[in-house]
Amino acid sequence: MKCPVCDDPARDISEPNLDSQTIECMVCGSYEIPETVLEMYRWKVLSREEREDALRNAKRFTKRGGSGERPVIHSRCF
Ligand SMILES: [Zn+2]
Repeated sequence: MKCPVCDDPARDISEPNLDSQTIECMVCGSYEIPETVLEMYRWKVLSREEREDALRNAKRFTKRGGSGERPVIHSRCF
């Protein structure tokens, strides 16, 4: 599959039945993105740079929560 953020080849390591995709990307690292975000028009029209910004924001939000969890790209991140 292609990474939803940078379009490079990435691995989809999502657990089945979870309505969010877990991506492992050489460029972006591992992160989660909910299907609801992937389907948002606002997400689809972002440029690659803007999607990378969204992931950066997601990583910031995650760090604030502590515990080394995987960042999740929510709509508040972009
Ligand atoms: Zn990527």
